[in-house]
Amino acid sequence: MTISLAHLKATFSKEKIDQLKELLKGKGAIVGHQSPDGDSIGSCLGLHLFLREIGVETTVIAPDPFPSFLAWLPGAENILIFNSDKASVQQVIANADFVFTLDFNDLSRLGELGKLVEQRNVPIVMIDHHQSPKDYATIQFSDPNCGSTCELICQLIDVLGENDKINKAVAQALYCGMVMDTGSFRFSSVSATTHLFVARLIESGLKPHEVHENIFDNQSFEKLRLLGFALSEKLVIVPELSAAYITLSEEEAHKYNYEKGFTEGLVNYALSVKGVSVAGFFREEDGKVKISFRSKHPVKVNELAAKYFNGGGHIHAAGGKAHNSLEDTVALFLQKLPEFLTR
Ligand code: 5GP
Ligand code: MN
Repeated sequence: MTISLAHLKATFSKEKIDQLKELLKGKGAIVGHQSPDGDSIGSCLGLHLFLREIGVETTVIAPDPFPSFLAWLPGAENILIFNSDKASVQQVIANADFVFTLDFNDLSRLGELGKLVEQRNVPIVMIDHHQSPKDYATIQFSDPNCGSTCELICQLIDVLGENDKINKAVAQALYCGMVMDTGSFRFSSVSATTHLFVARLIESGLKPHEVHENIFDNQSFEKLRLLGFALSEKLVIVPELSAAYITLSEEEAHKYNYEKGFTEGLVNYALSVKGVSVAGFFREEDGKVKISFRSKHPVKVNELAAKYFNGGGHIHAAGGKAHNSLEDTVALFLQKLPEFLTR
């Protein structure tokens, strides 16, 4: 059986690739989104480590800290965090000949860092898999049908004809993002091409079990206790709306010594309940509410997040924020949800 990669040419046209090759003669910055996740950090590091192999110097920047379950990734120790090291980030951006923006398609997802990137006014290369890209990039590689930005980086490396430059570190970073954004290869976005690229990563030295162990079998006791509390005390099922949700107040989070990443994946437990087709997770932080939505066909939670919760995302995995109380935010969710169940 041959797996065709012909469709990659639609995303990575010859014209854009030639333009990119010209840019790569300089040095640059690679920027991921706020509240970094596995695909954001994985794609930034995977691209950075790959570019190093072909002699291109880049620096990876995250707007704010990434969860500790990603700290083992090769190169993670050199990521500059804008919130805590603005001077260094300003210097990198000032010296950059180009900026890659990975795993998002709207500069507002960078917060204050977005203004810095915009003002620098150098070519921007977007590589992303979310819907409705904003028109800010000089070169736009966007494919909402692709399961992860890390898979898009695999595609780019293939189109560049540089598969032999993928080493174990590059493979680990890219595989990490693919695992995280595909629910360990179980979402509908997973294709034969996804697995073809995974096979290539394994041929390049990747040991998949090492990545899974680092991500999933390295959890703090407190994180698991918080999960236990959330599932036994905070999970609410609303059968008439085929919905489930979990809330977590700042006080509750504090009680379990909450750290970034503690509630990663929690919303999926709510969605896993029989009969539930849409799930929400609402976490209070600094007087705001951070929201995660997940759904099964046909509920489009990206539309729900965009219309009512200052957010967006993918059809079945989206997020946003609210400036109301937890109670009011949940009430709004339950009130507006029927609009999205009927379509
Ligand atoms: P999570 O629930 O894991 O934080 O995010 C799920 C998806 O929604 C991700 O693809 C993420 O990029 C997107 N997302 C999360 N929060 C926001 C937000 O505030 N704004 C937008 N536009 N997308 C978000
Ligand atoms: Mn992603």
